[in-house]
Amino acid sequence: MSASAQSTVAFHDRFAQALPEMCTPWEAQRIHSPQLLVFNEPLAAEMGLDPAALQSSDGSRLLTGNLVPEGATPVAQVYAGHQFGHYSPRLGDGRALLLGEIVNASGNLRDVHLKGSGRTPFARGGDGQAAVGPMLREYILSEAMHALGIPTTRSLAVTSTGMSVYRDTELPGAVLTRVASSHLRVGTFQYARATGDVELLRRLADHAIDRHYPAAAKDENPYRALLTDVISAQASLVAQWMLTGFVHGVMNTDNMTISGETIDYGPCAFMDAFNPSTVYSSIDQAGRYAYANQPAAAEWNLARLAESLLPLLHEDEQRAVEIATAAIGGFEADYLAAWSRGASEKIGLRHEADGDAASVLVQEFFALLEEHQADLTLAFHRLGAAASGSAEQARFLFDGAAGFDDWMERWLQLGPDRDLMSHVNPIYIPRNHLVEEALASATEGDLAPLRQLLNTVTRPYEERPGLERYAAPAPADFGAYRTFCGT
Ligand code: AMP
Ligand code: MG
Repeated sequence: MSASAQSTVAFHDRFAQALPEMCTPWEAQRIHSPQLLVFNEPLAAEMGLDPAALQSSDGSRLLTGNLVPEGATPVAQVYAGHQFGHYSPRLGDGRALLLGEIVNASGNLRDVHLKGSGRTPFARGGDGQAAVGPMLREYILSEAMHALGIPTTRSLAVTSTGMSVYRDTELPGAVLTRVASSHLRVGTFQYARATGDVELLRRLADHAIDRHYPAAAKDENPYRALLTDVISAQASLVAQWMLTGFVHGVMNTDNMTISGETIDYGPCAFMDAFNPSTVYSSIDQAGRYAYANQPAAAEWNLARLAESLLPLLHEDEQRAVEIATAAIGGFEADYLAAWSRGASEKIGLRHEADGDAASVLVQEFFALLEEHQADLTLAFHRLGAAASGSAEQARFLFDGAAGFDDWMERWLQLGPDRDLMSHVNPIYIPRNHLVEEALASATEGDLAPLRQLLNTVTRPYEERPGLERYAAPAPADFGAYRTFCGT
């Protein structure tokens, strides 16, 4: 890359160097006319990258893997995984590449990764491609999640390739440039364990500790500490999903990070009317990854991580199993603590101070939401106004029910903190009908609705005049929402 960006940014190949058995050096497919569709200037700045240089033609080449920066060794990573409960011994980056790692402006290491960069040795039957729509969808949803304060991989850019991708129909192709604190997955550990090479597994675990949980290295059993740290991070993450109505949709073990960041925005969506059995993914017919099942699915995945770590937990297998079981046993308490704290704040109370009274009110509020199928985001937002005496708008969402009035009366006695509520209850989430509208326009070449949506959802707590339609639920004729995995 010419001049500025490359001279200021050093790419590392730490993963490729530390774990050569777990990746294959690979090149991105050639793209003749890359065209930058969206670019994340604030993220580029956080990464210590030069936004102007990245938006040049050489920048587009770098963002699609067509210009390999100095120091980088692009690799396709290998991993295994349980997909809907069935084990696949060899998945891996079928259409993705890890370009390398960068030390960001805060001194933390970040992966720069490409999705839709062509077939790799792990592509199996896949074409290695990604379409513009799903890559823009990942951009919108991941940046919205970040703005909501939920740990997630980030989106730096979406670049159109000028090539066609064939799904049900012919679609324009794109590459997503993704940033993550790493791409280590539960499935990465499953793969290492399945090789039978305990020293490889140890090297992977040491790499994960070094990158994400350095304090674990000082523990008397660093690998148990790694496991309990991942369990806590995931328990907290899934609690945040549940509190905002996020349905991941494909919680396979290869789509669960070791860092505790949300990854793999395929068939995910935000719930509107509160219904615990909500499923959006067209392939999840049994509802394995339905909204209400997400904590259990996470715990199941973490048990697969624990199994993978067994040889490192103790030399005696029986003891190792006991350690793993005890660690997994901690998930529920971690999850409930994170959920209760967050849920109490959403109704303006403090779990520590308001204790049992807050817990009862929280439970009752969720029961009311379910009974009246109220819009989750709007209901919490309108409670903010109700906390300072204007309950009519909130009341409307609960059909003016006496049960809501009774709840309100007891809740107000505890003196909910409206200011706290306004910091934890968003007004704008990427509502499904608006996401679809923006993607349809973008696929036709009009990026204006996408930019407006991004502008809205990346400042989710800041109510702004003129954006009323972004706060409103889908019109009745939008119907039941379906999402697709074949992205
Ligand atoms: P996902 O369900 O998106 O997590 O993908 C599961 C696996 O399929 C991963 O190993 C992906 O790299 C691979 N994959 C998904 N789509 C494609 C594609 N179009 N070409 C090649 N590999 C793919
Ligand atoms: Mg995946």
